[in-house]
Amino acid sequence: MSSISSKARQTQRTLAEIDAMNTTPPDWEHCGTGAGDADPVGCRGIVIRSTGRCLVHCDDTERQSYLDELSPGADIDLRGTTLGENMLDALLDAVRDTEAELAPRIGDAEFSEVVFTGDARFDRTKFTGDARFDRTKFTGDARFDKATFSDTAWFYETWFTGIAWFPQANFRGDAEFSRAWFNVDARFNKATFGPAVTLGPMTCERTLNFESAVFENSVLIFAAVRYVSCSKARFQEPSTLRLLHAQVDLTDAVLLHPVTVATGSDPYVRRVFERDLPTKMSIRSLRGVDAAMLLISDVDLRNCVFTGTHHLDQLRLEGEWQFATTSEVARWRSGMIPRRRSRRQVIYEERL
Ligand SMILES: [Zn+2]
Repeated sequence: MSSISSKARQTQRTLAEIDAMNTTPPDWEHCGTGAGDADPVGCRGIVIRSTGRCLVHCDDTERQSYLDELSPGADIDLRGTTLGENMLDALLDAVRDTEAELAPRIGDAEFSEVVFTGDARFDRTKFTGDARFDRTKFTGDARFDKATFSDTAWFYETWFTGIAWFPQANFRGDAEFSRAWFNVDARFNKATFGPAVTLGPMTCERTLNFESAVFENSVLIFAAVRYVSCSKARFQEPSTLRLLHAQVDLTDAVLLHPVTVATGSDPYVRRVFERDLPTKMSIRSLRGVDAAMLLISDVDLRNCVFTGTHHLDQLRLEGEWQFATTSEVARWRSGMIPRRRSRRQVIYEERL
């Protein structure tokens, strides 16, 4: 686990600074293949043993020797290396655990600043130490289906170009996704988060999927994103969703403690996620939710489905929230929603 001061120092960086970093040598002894006037650094892959080259640029004999020395549970440090699908498959084959249904098992995993070309398939991989993917670039899909992270999972400033798959992933340590950037979807459906976690601030171009996810402790989800699904998600401790732009579906979410849903405000996500979208988040459905556990602040509820919501009379509203107004509807059934404004407001179903 890293210290809080280390986290604070990291979060001062910006994406532009990451690119700037690529013109300076990395912190580790690196390969340097291809270095020249235009690119004084060359290949940023960490050198393996005494080869002076990274895993990709060393000769075949050295590469095979490196792979042969790996075994289930081994530490892997390939910082800065560019890894294609075949090379990653060879690595994971070398650490497959014959006593655990051939699932790959890695101790401390250091994949910071790695560029994964093509898809990266870490399905079912067990990370028994720290798993670091800081400033890693996934050019295809990143697959962590059913992966287990026993210690901290670091995805700080990670770029997911394709879909980020974490279905049924099990995070037993901290899950660090600060400044992660998802170009498509991030799918955490049926994932389990053990400790209290802060997911974000992060940005996602399409959908953050937490369907049927389980948050065993408090969670703060902080993101700029178009759509968030928390359908059937289980929040077992007080939690907060602080979102920009998002439309949120909370259908059948299980709230065992108070959950705050609010429009977020963070200079970082505002700067890197400037989209022609309403800033204020909106809720699409509270069907099946115990509204007594909800605090909603600065949220658009004009298109929210309330049918089947429990204890709707105990829903707490703060800040600037919006229901549809009477001018937009043809009829009205009163008594379902607390009304605190002089202008009469209605719920989505009443306009149907
Ligand atoms: Zn290299």
